[in-house]
Amino acid sequence: MARKVLVLGEVRDGALRNVSFEAVAAAKKAAEGGEVVGVLIGDSIQSLGNSLIKYGADRVVAVEDEKLKQYTSDGFTQAFMAVVESEKPEGIFLGHTALGKDLSPRIASKLNSGLVSDVTDIEESGGNLVFVRPIYSGKAFEKKIVTDGLIFATIRPNNITPLEKDESRSGEVTSLSAEIKDLRTVIKEVVRKASEGVDLSEAKVIIAGGRGVKSADGFNPLNELAQVLGGAVGASRGACDADYCDYSLQIGQTGKVVTPDLYIACGISGAIQHLAGMSNSKVIVAINKDPEANIFKVADYGIVGDLFEVVPMLTEEFKKLKV
Ligand code: FAD
Repeated sequence: MARKVLVLGEVRDGALRNVSFEAVAAAKKAAEGGEVVGVLIGDSIQSLGNSLIKYGADRVVAVEDEKLKQYTSDGFTQAFMAVVESEKPEGIFLGHTALGKDLSPRIASKLNSGLVSDVTDIEESGGNLVFVRPIYSGKAFEKKIVTDGLIFATIRPNNITPLEKDESRSGEVTSLSAEIKDLRTVIKEVVRKASEGVDLSEAKVIIAGGRGVKSADGFNPLNELAQVLGGAVGASRGACDADYCDYSLQIGQTGKVVTPDLYIACGISGAIQHLAGMSNSKVIVAINKDPEANIFKVADYGIVGDLFEVVPMLTEEFKKLKV
């Protein structure tokens, strides 16, 4: 059944986040030959519309207002609902990001709709769209079918491959005015805590440190390896609790959930709460001096050794490959 599907293009620092292109690919599948309409919300963001089109959207609707410069739950809900009312979609897709996780239930409740969250794949079976999502902290996957009404889903970053960018694609980028009023939150200043560089939740390579790094300076070799591999640095809660790094780096049940192509765990024991955030990574390498460490049970490659010897050796070898 051909459907019209809306996809939110999530903007950060003036650029679209990669998960937006992944959500477009998912929406294309769910549209089943229907129309994929990109949605942009913000201030001076209309120029980003063409990128969404080159990655598969058929056209884009932009809601611009200076009150939408920063994300607020009220503001974005009002803007997105204005697009929904004007477009009357049969499907809505957002990234399963901090923004998507906050916005999607608000929209779903306004539309009295269900929501399939944290989708990692979409399959087709017997004429139905089947949404795959992890449950029990990633230990199992469930498959959901939406039998009736709006298909509304959030897409976990780094799982669905975006369509190839097609420079020849073109489509309309139109603006829609929406009345943004009665905002209960006013963002006065944004203070960044996370380190600069690659965004942890979308990184293809993550070098994570645990209590085994022993100090804040112990993260230096991990930073160097991340730099050589173009990756991001993450951490266990053990390392965060010990004040070796900021909590914004925490991966796990109460931290970020990540699915990079390569996850290198350094001095992390592999507690169940840590595994909940990283065990779906495509390739896991564990470096730990304890051969019995639990992390080796989920690792594809295990190195029993001192991270302060192993990590610099890896950095040097990867540097040679880059020359
Ligand atoms: P440890 O368990 O102390 O492990 C350190 C490891 O480093 C050891 O295996 C040791 O052999 C190794 N090591 C030491 N020195 C070296 C060296 N020189 N070279 C190589 N290896 C070395 N944890 C999370 O990570 N994320 C979460 O989101 C999270 N949420 C939680 C929620 C709840 C409700 C609870 C109760 C706990 C949660 N935890 C979480 C904590 C979790 O249970 C563990 O305590 C934590 O993950 C341990 O961190 P760690 O592996 O860095 O430290």
